[in-house]
Amino acid sequence: MATPMTAEPGRSSRQPDLVEIKGFRGRLIGCDHAGYDIARAVWNGAVERHPRLIAQCIGTADVVAALRFARDHDLEIAVRGGGHNVAGTAVCDDGLVIDLWAMRAVRVDPVHRRAWVQGGALWGDVDHETQMHGLATTGGIVSHTGVAGLTLGGGVGWLMRKHGLTVDNLLAANVVTADGELLRASESEHPDLFWALRGGGGNFGVVTSFEFGLHPLGPIVLAGPLFWDASEARQVLRFYRDFIRNAADELGTVVRFGTAPPLPVIPPELHWRPVVMIGTCYAGRIEDGERALAPLRGCRAPLLDLVGPTPYVGFQSALDSTVVHGWSYYWKSTHLPELSDELIDVIAGHAFSSASPRSYAAMFHLKGAVSRVAEGGTAFGNRQASHAITLDAVWRPGEDFAARDTAWAKGFFAALGRFREGVYVNFLGGDEDPGRVREAYGDRVYDRLVDVKARYDPDNVFHHNQNIRPRSSHATTSRTTDSL
Ligand SMILES: Cc1cc2nc3c(=O)[nH]c(=O)nc-3n(C[C@H](O)[C@H](O)[C@H](O)COP(=O)(O)OP(=O)(O)OC[C@H]3O[C@@H](n4cnc5c(N)ncnc54)[C@H](O)[C@@H]3O)c2cc1C
Repeated sequence: MATPMTAEPGRSSRQPDLVEIKGFRGRLIGCDHAGYDIARAVWNGAVERHPRLIAQCIGTADVVAALRFARDHDLEIAVRGGGHNVAGTAVCDDGLVIDLWAMRAVRVDPVHRRAWVQGGALWGDVDHETQMHGLATTGGIVSHTGVAGLTLGGGVGWLMRKHGLTVDNLLAANVVTADGELLRASESEHPDLFWALRGGGGNFGVVTSFEFGLHPLGPIVLAGPLFWDASEARQVLRFYRDFIRNAADELGTVVRFGTAPPLPVIPPELHWRPVVMIGTCYAGRIEDGERALAPLRGCRAPLLDLVGPTPYVGFQSALDSTVVHGWSYYWKSTHLPELSDELIDVIAGHAFSSASPRSYAAMFHLKGAVSRVAEGGTAFGNRQASHAITLDAVWRPGEDFAARDTAWAKGFFAALGRFREGVYVNFLGGDEDPGRVREAYGDRVYDRLVDVKARYDPDNVFHHNQNIRPRSSHATTSRTTDSL
């Protein structure tokens, strides 16, 4: 495969005139290619980067070839799974993107309850194939999120309280390491690498495929959102705190603070009304779920109750159209402890004061199986926290909410300051202090990650990410999120 690449004034002085990557069979896209702007776009439209070359791989051999080429030519490397990370780490300026978008195959063994998933797959791909057999594993709550980035950071979702984080269901991964070697990592093969892959992000290599354990689920589950007017946020959150304290592990909930989106299932008179929405999904028998959810559904007569038996696959994509590709996003995030009255006051006092009707905050209830894995059992940090909250400023092209809602997210985050208990690495935005990566893991896990990094990527080849810096003097300067 060859593609001509001409240097563009002001963008790069190092571009060769013609690029051929030996042994590469996928598509190479340079800046003069008709598909360049589409190929370099990521989910967050606020991220605008111009790589020198995008190597769209169709197999592991392509990944190895692209990686070797980038290293031989001393090119910056970014790795793209689903392209969903809010910090836009899947794409870099003036370097080479190892893009796995064409590697989306999923194979399921229903007898042994296992799924093999390629490194560019999205969660919609996985749910589609596994649900055909009435099986599932913990994935994200938006179907167009990439499997790779989400898994490597930990993976929170509706099923985590029952079945653990996504990484708790990971059995093995095939990884192309910094020196172009293909390794299989599992409990018995390169266990140090396997430990680090389960939370340490894209720091250790390019994962070409994952092997997950699956659990019986659905295909019909009891799930759906409940809505209350924003003016009731304090009372609803107090009730919710007490309700989830003893909730069954089967019950996953996410609280969304914002306006009611104009979805077809929501009556038009509620569209854009400020609401507290509690999304629910019961990973068990419908009748048990009905019993478990009855108290919450009886709380203060909700404006709207959409809880009911529903196909899990459909539920997994219910929020897709509220977080559209190409809109602009700015996130702040933190883990939180159990909701005290004081914390509830802070949340209720800030959650509804964004300028954009599309901005929102989302709070995932953790605990259950997440907290039963020992701290440090995998590289996912802060397992004892009760909640993970993201404060998400959203604006569409042409809208001028950027400054106001970025300030809103920052102000909300500052107000949560004294309650902060770490952070989920995958929710970190693009302008964070590098110290927040350490915060995502805690000192012990972070230091162990540094050791593994030194073993598998001592030159910090994979640094266009939430970077774990090796303790090596010759490591490439870290481009942690502050300079992305
Ligand atoms: C709308 C939305 C909803 C979300 N919901 C959830 C949720 O419910 N639960 C949750 O846990 N997270 C959620 N997230 C966060 C999500 O986990 C991260 O954004 C994650 O990075 C997305 O993975 P990706 O493959 O799409 O990322 P990309 O942007 O493609 O990649 C991000 C980074 O991951 C690494 N990476 C990607 N692919 C590979 C690979 N094959 N091998 C090695 N490294 C790789 C690279 O370092 C890359 O820079 C959500 C994000 C968004 C934007």
